Amino acid sequence: MNEQQLITRLRSKGYKVTPQRIAICQLILSSKDHPSAEQIYQEVKKTYPAISLATVYITLDLLKKLGLVQELGFSDQSSRYDPNNSPHINVICPRCGKIYDYEAPNVKKLWYRIIAETGLKPLRQRLDLYTLCNKCSQENPTP
Ligand SMILES: [Zn+2]
Ligand SMILES: [Zn+2]
Repeated sequence: MNEQQLITRLRSKGYKVTPQRIAICQLILSSKDHPSAEQIYQEVKKTYPAISLATVYITLDLLKKLGLVQELGFSDQSSRYDPNNSPHINVICPRCGKIYDYEAPNVKKLWYRIIAETGLKPLRQRLDLYTLCNKCSQENPTP
């Protein structure tokens, strides 16, 4: 989605469009590493020093409501945000919190088959796989 489409989408829902909000949206929608709200805040702050963490949370909430971003909640760390809404596997390192997407075509096929068979209309889905990342397993291989 380009910037104009995004602005149109936000406006159509009656949301106010500010440069800060656009910056937050652009950052999360182009992101591959599932940032937390705090990480987004630190990044956008470089361009907009007056921005508040509350603005980041409000904007992420809008994107969630529009179905553009999924919130991944964890019991042992803060929520992370994922702009990839198609079925995929989140590969998560439990030690450092690194998350990347694994696009598994077989999983996707199976997923759509299950949806077709059951007739369910999923609102969202989430598949997590926990494994130590390369860096963490080199530093200390015992889980
Ligand atoms: Zn993901
Ligand atoms: Zn790690």
